[in-house]
Amino acid sequence: MKCKKCGANDAEVYLAYSNLKLCPECFMLLAERKVRNTIETYKMLSKNDNIGIAVSGGKDSATLAYILSRSFEKIPMTLIYIDLGIPDYSQHCLEKVKELSKIIDRDLIVYSLEKELGFRIPDFKSTIYGRKMCSACGTVKRYLFNKITYDLGLTKIATGHNLDDTVEAIFNSYMEGNVGALVRLKPVLPKTHPKMMPKIKPLICLTDMECLLYATYRNLPIRMLECQFAKRSRTIRRKEVLNLLADKIPSFKHTFISSHYRRILPLLEKALGGQSVGDEMGIFDCPVCGMPTSLRSMPCHFCKIVSLLKRKA
Ligand SMILES: [Zn+2]
Ligand SMILES: [Zn+2]
Repeated sequence: MKCKKCGANDAEVYLAYSNLKLCPECFMLLAERKVRNTIETYKMLSKNDNIGIAVSGGKDSATLAYILSRSFEKIPMTLIYIDLGIPDYSQHCLEKVKELSKIIDRDLIVYSLEKELGFRIPDFKSTIYGRKMCSACGTVKRYLFNKITYDLGLTKIATGHNLDDTVEAIFNSYMEGNVGALVRLKPVLPKTHPKMMPKIKPLICLTDMECLLYATYRNLPIRMLECQFAKRSRTIRRKEVLNLLADKIPSFKHTFISSHYRRILPLLEKALGGQSVGDEMGIFDCPVCGMPTSLRSMPCHFCKIVSLLKRKA
């Protein structure tokens, strides 16, 4: 079977949602074009930007960093890696992001939890977060990626959330009726507080599988180890269910997300009185660290969970 685009090479990739059989080269070009189109559609980048890219050693952030770096050569970019102190895993991932930074010739900032803050993610094991390690880890990473970007004086942060991640998150917010989360699940999150850095998700147009294929075909350095704390989480189970739907209805994920952004989200935002998400949720300064939080006169989520560790020590 020949590639439907070039007609010359053998097709290796089948994209069911668009019924396309492509050779690796045409697939990679298509993936890159989709990311550039997404960036343009949502006005994610401007020429005065100096962005941070959150990297983890995984396929998504490697794909993100590679495509951004090659497509926007003139925009300054810094890779940001948080060393979570997870035995073997964190060191392994660090080696991958170091390699990536060399390949794309962009600086890498490594922020070590242990050196900077005196704790590691495994320390949460003995707290009430022992069964919710991924939740604690997510809070720590979200907080620090924002803070590091702010402290470095960068203009925004790009993350590797892909189509599957986003469909799962939107689906979950619908299920829980979490309107606040639903309006925050946007491809671009603007600055709603002086210390809240804008966030962009250029990979929302690519599926999990497309990111894996892209990273593999480009031979990007990606981790081979799984995090010891990432069990079969609810997130993973929900993704499996959504993949079953996509097996039956190939365009499911793409239709779901575009209906949400084009039709539902504008209505939700209107129903909330045309206020920005920040106003609707309320954004306050954390009395402990001074960073933005949705909690009024209370320490932010990050300060709250870190104080659990200090109390134990
Ligand atoms: Zn081709
Ligand atoms: Zn705080």
